[in-house]
Amino acid sequence: MQNVITRRKKTIRDIDVRGKRVLVRADLNVPLDDDGDIADDTRIRASLPTIRYLCERDARVILCSHLDRPQGVVVERLRLALVANRLSVLLNRPVAALRDCVGPEVESAVAAMSGGDIVLLENLRFHPEEKTGDPAFVEGLAGLADVYVNDAFGASHRAHASVVGVPGRLPAVAGLLLEKELDAFTRILQNPERPFAAVIGGAKVSDKLEVLENIIPRVDLLIVGGGMAATFFAGRGYGTGRSRLEADRLDAVGRLEAKAAERGVRLLLPPDVVVAERLEAGSPAVVVPAAEIPEDRVIADIGPGAADEFSRELSRCRTVVWNGPMGVFEIPEFAEGTRRVAAALANLDGTTVIGGGSTTDAVVRFGLADLMTHVSTGGGAALTVLAGKVLPGVEALDDAGEP
Ligand code: ADP
Ligand code: MG
Repeated sequence: MQNVITRRKKTIRDIDVRGKRVLVRADLNVPLDDDGDIADDTRIRASLPTIRYLCERDARVILCSHLDRPQGVVVERLRLALVANRLSVLLNRPVAALRDCVGPEVESAVAAMSGGDIVLLENLRFHPEEKTGDPAFVEGLAGLADVYVNDAFGASHRAHASVVGVPGRLPAVAGLLLEKELDAFTRILQNPERPFAAVIGGAKVSDKLEVLENIIPRVDLLIVGGGMAATFFAGRGYGTGRSRLEADRLDAVGRLEAKAAERGVRLLLPPDVVVAERLEAGSPAVVVPAAEIPEDRVIADIGPGAADEFSRELSRCRTVVWNGPMGVFEIPEFAEGTRRVAAALANLDGTTVIGGGSTTDAVVRFGLADLMTHVSTGGGAALTVLAGKVLPGVEALDDAGEP
């Protein structure tokens, strides 16, 4: 069976970092608000343990990250200076923001560092070479350091220069956040306490086919909600009104239903749904049984009956992994199903792992993140792991046990 990390990887605890120049690929890609300020610093906070660990050992800490999608050019709004400021406040020590991530000025700034100092290189994606993995750019980054640390779980599904290039050039180990993320997913995928349920939702089934394929053989219960439930309803012969139906995925959904039945996995769809005229705030909405969706309506959320049933079923589980909201939770009147599932997980006496950009966002918004066992900092990376695929950024690290 495929697993999350094919081999055990070295971590910063396996090597001597004392006094070394350590290049840390972090995921400091925080959401910004309309004023260009940090809207949520969860990812910055999640990066602190590795940085503190290195500082305490007098390493010279060279942080790097991307922020948003500057498309290979300098975008003033996306400079990492604002992240350096926040880091500095959280760490209560100076963090110098450099104006580039490679080149002579960066090299001299790094050469001037003492043990325990921290610098943050400029947004990696100001250079198109980051995404293309250009060898000269890789050398420019690798030349700054003695050791490479990947702590950017959220970027580890990308084969970019700072993720897979640099670890080919330096001793390369996992940071504490990357290790924590991998441990959380490995534990539930390989050795879950049972009953084990997966809750899968979100807009489209086509985004989640590989996750569903990989998860069905592992779970006792699969709950499907969100927009993607429409395609499952259609597969069971229900009308779905004006909901987005992925007609080209009906076969795939049929195969998933068969696979679940064959393996004795219970696959629950919402027994009722909230349907609206439009997926907009203020649009007239009603609750109907799933088998009676009016032709001129679109599914916006799971219904209260579904929320009750899902909550009851989940409360009997010892492990739950959740990816994908139950409804269009960005609109408050369609957020109730997602909130009820989040609350059920928050109350669970067991292991709860949340993955996916929107799902994490919802859990944070409801103020329930602290009540979960693990809330992943990765969106695409979490989906990659849940799909049973290897993360290139993890593969590129040194195997544990190597000299
Ligand atoms: P994640 O980022 O957690 O993996 P997805 O990206 O798959 O989740 O899905 C998130 C999106 O799914 C949200 O923007 C939400 O509005 C949308 N969504 C959920 N339910 C529905 C629905 N019934 N109709 C349309 N969109 C939906
Ligand atoms: Mg998403």
